Amino acid sequence: MNAGWTSKISRTGLLGLLLTIAGTLVAADDTFEPNYANHMLTPYQGSGIAPKLVAFRHHFPLKVVVLEDGVFFNERYFERVKEACLAWTNATKNVRQGGVTLTCIAAEDPTGADVVFKFGTTQESFGFEGFTSEFGTWALIRLSARDTTNQPVSEARLRRVAMHEFGHALGIWGHSPNPKDIMSLDDRTTEVSTADVNTLLIAYANEPATATTISAP
Ligand SMILES: [Zn+2]
Repeated sequence: MNAGWTSKISRTGLLGLLLTIAGTLVAADDTFEPNYANHMLTPYQGSGIAPKLVAFRHHFPLKVVVLEDGVFFNERYFERVKEACLAWTNATKNVRQGGVTLTCIAAEDPTGADVVFKFGTTQESFGFEGFTSEFGTWALIRLSARDTTNQPVSEARLRRVAMHEFGHALGIWGHSPNPKDIMSLDDRTTEVSTADVNTLLIAYANEPATATTISAP
């Protein structure tokens, strides 16, 4: 349990910040800087959907289940997804608010999961490499196990996409404009940045989420 997630902060001080720093995984301080809370891009490119920060997950540690079903599941992909989730744990482990504590298991039964990963075809993830749907009490993250040439997606690529989608499931419902953040759409970034952490912390400093069903790639 991370009781501190709900601590309130003033958002006034967040206005006007420019995101010029990113990168190393250090403990976020109480100012939540740097962050991209006020510079987020739409969660769905080409749409008019506004980005937002929402404290989607209500109970920590999270139960993350990687669905052990179908022809696309394999242990290597499972390990990369687990790494992707634990990257958020590691990046937030020193924050005073607690952090993204979790367990991640492979299972056929997703009952009780807060976040479920499912491997499938690109079509099943609606043409995207990853696609996150939020159902209020849990989130479903579809990951494409095939690349654009219909070959098995690389483990490195899968890890990066899983890390990005998990950020959506945690509450960053939009994209960073900075290519150095995992929540950007830039392919090169492969780790959670300080700005990613701070932006997530701002989400959990806001009011608790109400049940909702939305999706983002
Ligand atoms: Zn995204």
